[in-house]
Order: sequence, then structure tokens, then C-alpha cells
Amino acid sequence: MTREELFAELTAEAAACMRCERMRDRLAVLSHLNGSIRPEIMFIAEAPGRNGADRTRIPFHGDKSGETFERLLQSIGLTRAGIFITNTVLCSPRKPSGANDKPTRAEIANCSGFLARQIELIDPPVIATLGAVALDALRSIAPHNLTLREHAASIARWNGRLVVPLYHPSPQVIITVRNAQQQQSDFRILLQAVELSKNQ
Ligand code: SF4
Repeated sequence: MTREELFAELTAEAAACMRCERMRDRLAVLSHLNGSIRPEIMFIAEAPGRNGADRTRIPFHGDKSGETFERLLQSIGLTRAGIFITNTVLCSPRKPSGANDKPTRAEIANCSGFLARQIELIDPPVIATLGAVALDALRSIAPHNLTLREHAASIARWNGRLVVPLYHPSPQVIITVRNAQQQQSDFRILLQAVELSKNQ
């Protein structure tokens, strides 16, 4: 089977998945809209947002986090054509009020098989995690000792590829932890990681 066929099979499986009780009525955000399946970088974030990916079906598009992410990408000359974006959980977790919620450990574990298969199938030379949840989720696939606090915007080796831990571009993180200017500077390390991956 070609990579395209395998990806189509994976997206169909994810679309039919109802493993997480509270996301049974949500559709997995996984399709050609996630980006190139031969990318230079795979971005992994936490979960599709209510006003962003869950609504538009395009990861990091349609909400404030998406606006910032798109600006950050543009600032280093990357476009969606050269990247793939996914999440630790493919469906949008909600609070009973309908607001965005963090995925639970059980939900991340439920979806870890899909994450592992995306990484294996798409085989990105560089993975950029956006936020601590995404960085932690990689441990369900292969161990690492990386933390966002110590390793943000550095290049590490993990499971046969390069990993760059980055902060999540959400408004809350930008206000409280890592401002937009710092995040822009963090993103520049991705260009070094891509170059490094080409020389391996
Ligand atoms: S988040 Fe993942 S495991 Fe949970 S229902 Fe959606 S596709 Fe299935």
C-alpha cells in the first residue's frame, strides 16, 4: 500500500473511533487538511480546540491559538505545505459547559496508538511538540527525559528522529509563561533542526 492509502485507512479508522466516552459525538481531526504527509516537521499539540480545529477541521486554524501559530510559522518562512499538524488526542475534549478541556491521561492513552501510527507512517525527520501535554504524550511511544522547562527550544534526539519541545501558542501561555516574541525566537530553532536532519 502507498503512504496515501495507509493514511486514508488511518483517517477512516480515527473517524469511526469512539474509544473516549465524552468524545463519542466528536469527529477526529485527521485528514489531508492536517498538512503534508511528507513534511519536514510534524507539530504535535494538545487537542483540537472548539473554535479552531474542531470547527474548521484544519489544525490551528480559526481561533486565537491558530492565529498565533500561523504568524509564528510565517515568521520563519514555513507554510502548511511543508508541515503536518496533529494532536495528542484527535477529538475535541469539552467540559460539561461546552468549553475546551484538557484531555485526561486515559484519553491520551486511548489515542496514543493513533499518534504512534501517524509518526510511523508520516516519518517526519523533526517533531515539534507544542506544550507539556504533547511532550509527555511522546513517552507513551518511547521514553525520554525531556521537560518543557529545561528543554524548550532545544534539539533533542528521540526514537530515531529530532524533537524540539516548544510552548503552546495559546493566549494563556503567551500572557503567563512565554510571550509572543520569545515564542518567535523559539521557533527559529526549527530551521536548525531541519538542517541538522538533512545532514544525518
Ligand atoms: S480522541 Fe482518539 S481515541 Fe479518543 S475517541 Fe477520538 S480518535 Fe478515538
